[in-house]
Amino acid sequence: MTTIFDSARPVKSTPSFGRGLTRRPFVPDQADQAWAAQAFGDAESDRELEEQALQARWDDQFNHTFPAGCCQLCGEPSDQLDPVHELCPECLDRAEFATLAGVNERAGLGYRVF
Ligand SMILES: [Zn+2]
Repeated sequence: MTTIFDSARPVKSTPSFGRGLTRRPFVPDQADQAWAAQAFGDAESDRELEEQALQARWDDQFNHTFPAGCCQLCGEPSDQLDPVHELCPECLDRAEFATLAGVNERAGLGYRVF
C-alpha cells in the first residue's frame, strides 16, 4: 500500500493506486476488464451509428423523385423520356457518354468516346 505524504496528514491510498508505475506487470482485474469491454463496446456502437448516419445522408440524395413526365435527372418536363430510366434525351446522351467514356478510360484509352 502506498502512503501519500503530500498532504497535511498522511493518507493511506487504495491498494490499486499507482499500479503500473511499479515494475510489476499490469494485470487487469475483473473491474478493469469490464470497463474496457464497455468502453470498446460503446466506441464500436458509436462508430456503427455514425456509419449508418453517413450512409443515410448519402442515400437521401438519391431518394428524391421528380413528378411523372419530368426527367429524373434534371427535372425538366419532357415527352421523350426513355422508358427505363425516365431521362430526357439530353440527360440520356450525357449518361451514355459518361458510361462509355468511363469504360474507355478504365481500358487506358482516355475519357472519350470513339
Ligand atoms: Zn434531363
